Amino acid sequence: MLLVKNGRVVDPARKTDGALDVLLDGERIAEVAPAGKISARDAEVFDAGGLIVAPGFIDLHAHLREPGQESSESIESGTRAAARGGFTAVCCMPNTKPVNDNASVTRFIVDRAKAGGSVRVWPIGAASVGSKGEALAEIAAMKQAGIVGVSDDGKPMATAKLARQVMEYCRSLDLPVIEHAEDVSLAAGAVMREGVTSTRLGLAGMPAAAESVCVARDVQLAELTGARLHIAHLSAKASLEQVRWAKQRGLRVSCEVTPHHFTLIDEDVQYDSHYKMNPPLASREDREALIAGLADGSVEAIATDHAPHEPALKEVEFDRAPFGITGFETALALALEQLAHTGRIPLLRVVELFTSGPARVLGLERTIAPGQPADLTIFSLDRPWTFRAAESASKSRNSPFDGRAFKGGPVATIVSGRIVHKL
Ligand SMILES: [Zn+2]
Repeated sequence: MLLVKNGRVVDPARKTDGALDVLLDGERIAEVAPAGKISARDAEVFDAGGLIVAPGFIDLHAHLREPGQESSESIESGTRAAARGGFTAVCCMPNTKPVNDNASVTRFIVDRAKAGGSVRVWPIGAASVGSKGEALAEIAAMKQAGIVGVSDDGKPMATAKLARQVMEYCRSLDLPVIEHAEDVSLAAGAVMREGVTSTRLGLAGMPAAAESVCVARDVQLAELTGARLHIAHLSAKASLEQVRWAKQRGLRVSCEVTPHHFTLIDEDVQYDSHYKMNPPLASREDREALIAGLADGSVEAIATDHAPHEPALKEVEFDRAPFGITGFETALALALEQLAHTGRIPLLRVVELFTSGPARVLGLERTIAPGQPADLTIFSLDRPWTFRAAESASKSRNSPFDGRAFKGGPVATIVSGRIVHKL
C-alpha cells in the first residue's frame, strides 16, 4: 500500500482541487479523503507536500520505434522517458519496422511493454496494410491483441475511399480513427510552413491548407459513416474551424495539439533540423487559435508526438533530415510555461488536457476515486530546472528545447501503484 499525502489533488473529471490524501492498494485506488483522515499504518508514505497530485497522464501520440529502429528508441527507453515526463500511459503509433498492421506485431509490442516498459503502452494499429493506403489492415485481430485506435500516422489515409472504409469498419468495432491530416500533393517536397520565413531561409514550404483540406474531407466522411474521428497534431486555425463545425453538427470528432505547436511558430525556425517536424511549426495566428481551442474545449488533448531520431539521422542538412522531435520530458513544463503560468488556461483545464481529455478520446475514464487504476502524476508548479537533452532517458537528443529553463514539471509518476519515476 502507498499513501500519497499532503498533496493538492487536481482532478478535472470531478472538478475537484483541494487538499486530499490518496491511498493506493496494489493496482487500484483504495481511498481518497481529506488530508490526515486516512489511517494506514502499514502503508509506505509519499509526501506530496507543496505538489500537485493529478490522475495519471495519457499521451495519445508517440513513436517508440520498436520494432525495427531501436537505435533511435526502444519500448524500454521510450517508456522511461515517458515516466520522467509524468506520463503513465502512451499510445504508440504503428509506423515501426515492420509496421504494426497485424496482431503478431501488436502482441510483440504489448509483450515487450509488459516485460520492460516503465508505463502502460497502448498500441495504435495501422489502418491499411503497411500503411500503404491500399488494402485494409487486420483491424479486428489487432483489436483483440490490444490496439486502442487505428491510424496510418506518418501519412494520411491515402484516399477518401480508404478513409471511408476504415471509418465504417472502425465504427462497428467502436475504435477511434486517428488521422495524420495532410494533403500530400500540397505538402510534396515541403520542409516547413510556407510564408515569409520559408522564403527568407530558402526552404520549400507547405500552406496551412495542406492540413485543413484533409481535415475537411475527413469530417465529412465522419458524418457519412458515424465514426469516431480524432485529428492528430492539429496545427492550423483552418483545421480547428473544421473540427468546431463538426462538433456543432454533433459528429464524434476530436483533436489533439502538441506542445511545440502551442509554444513555437514558423518565425522561430532556424536552419537547424531540431525545428523540422510534420506538421511544421505554424503561423502566429495559428498558435493563438490553438491556445484558444485548448482553453475552450475544442481541443481534447495535449499529445507529444514524441518522435525520436538518433543523431546520425537528424544531424544532416535541414532538407534531408527526417521530421520530428522528442517530447515526453518537456510536455508538462511547456504547458505550465505557455498556458498555466501565463494565466491563459486554468490549471484544472491544463490537467484535463493530459488526463480525462485524452481518456475520453479512447472511450475511457480518468479520475482519482476508489476502484480506479492506481496511476498518478505528481508535479511541481514552481521547481526551477533546465532540460538537458544529453541527460534524457530517450535514446535520442532531437529537441529544440535543449537547455531551456523551466518553472515546474514532473516530480513523480506512479503506475499501477508502483513509483516508476521520482526525482
Ligand atoms: Zn503524424
